[in-house]
Amino acid sequence: LDAWLQVPLAPPDSIFKLTAAYKADSFPQKVNLGVGAYRDDDDKPWVLPVVKKACPVSQFNATEILLNDPTLDHEYLPITGLPEFTSAAARLILGTDSPAIADGRVASVQTISGTGANHLGALFLSRFYTFNGKSQIYLSNPTWANHHAIFKNVSIEPIDYPYYDPKTIGLDFQGFISALKAAPTHSVFLLHACAHNPTGVDPNPEQWNQIAAVMLERQHYGFFDCAYQGFASGDLDKDAAAVRSFVAKGVPLLVCQSFAKNAGLYSERVGALHVVATSKEAADRVKSQLSVLQRSEISNPPSHGARLVSLILNNQGLFEEWKRDIKTMAGRIIDMRHQLHNILTNELKTPGNWDHIINQIGMFSFTGINPDQSKAIVEKAHIYLTANGRISMAGLNSHNLKYVAESLDKTVR
Ligand code: PLP
Repeated sequence: LDAWLQVPLAPPDSIFKLTAAYKADSFPQKVNLGVGAYRDDDDKPWVLPVVKKACPVSQFNATEILLNDPTLDHEYLPITGLPEFTSAAARLILGTDSPAIADGRVASVQTISGTGANHLGALFLSRFYTFNGKSQIYLSNPTWANHHAIFKNVSIEPIDYPYYDPKTIGLDFQGFISALKAAPTHSVFLLHACAHNPTGVDPNPEQWNQIAAVMLERQHYGFFDCAYQGFASGDLDKDAAAVRSFVAKGVPLLVCQSFAKNAGLYSERVGALHVVATSKEAADRVKSQLSVLQRSEISNPPSHGARLVSLILNNQGLFEEWKRDIKTMAGRIIDMRHQLHNILTNELKTPGNWDHIINQIGMFSFTGINPDQSKAIVEKAHIYLTANGRISMAGLNSHNLKYVAESLDKTVR
């Protein structure tokens, strides 16, 4: 008997399946709006100029870096990562003037990009978060699909909280607040720091204030996932505002940070987990246990991407240049939002209200079309998008915008 024949065959990941179908399609005007990665106006992946500069001879060639800098080698990093990377990453998300950093009460660990940060945070909570005796996490409905899998993997039960309102194609703020109030005290709530995936719908600053107030009152724990800092508004500080205000108000929290999107380093797996504690002693204890957990899982994080990001974050000139590159990416996406909105609303006079396209933020937009309409667009127009009607704004460009708008128009008429 072959034991592996008993293994249930798992379906392929839906996004990767969509990309494979797009690649196999020979239709000349095909468009890929599924992928969550930045593309330039010619639909090409974009290596940020600042990343090329930090790595001058050839892109991502560690040997060349080594030749250029005799201090670099392939020795193991510390278990918790490259210290100059983790400390600069903490300043980036929490602010250079963060009192939590000044107090030494932030435990920062380098992780395998944002996914690894989510996993390590989840694993840590599964072992050490014992306040309400429950292994549960509240996730926005909907959320990044991987969140469910990540928490289930460490036996934390995901529970949905209301977030997206299909009627307004916006935030179900009352539903969200009611769920915060109804949850047992000390519950853990996962919050997207900015550019909510998949909806593109974020709370506004006043709504964040109210969320923080209820979380404080109920003594909830904030599990912030920050995969798009800078990518949402084009401004690194603006996109960190919710996290920073929660820290300032004293909401207990951790932050998962990814450099995949904002530095275009998807495959390099550069990320960090920051646990903001109430004292240095608590942070030291947390970091010691994160180190033990990390040791058993990956031993030591990879160095190459972390060195690149560290170089950019710790060098004033490169940092300024990175900010310009981020503005280029966010700016192009915001421009696509405005142009798509304009064609639908003013040129085609497409039925319905399309203001959500410009009100939403970040990589994705929930168009509001239903699964049948999504399927029809894929099949008839060769425009690839997920069944929930989510489109990646980065897949739009000046060459395909009109075609996509006309196809959307036809589908909803
Ligand atoms: N969290 C959210 C909400 C995301 O959308 C993503 C990527 O799509 C991630 C985390 C993690 O990405 P990565 O592991 O590539 O940093």
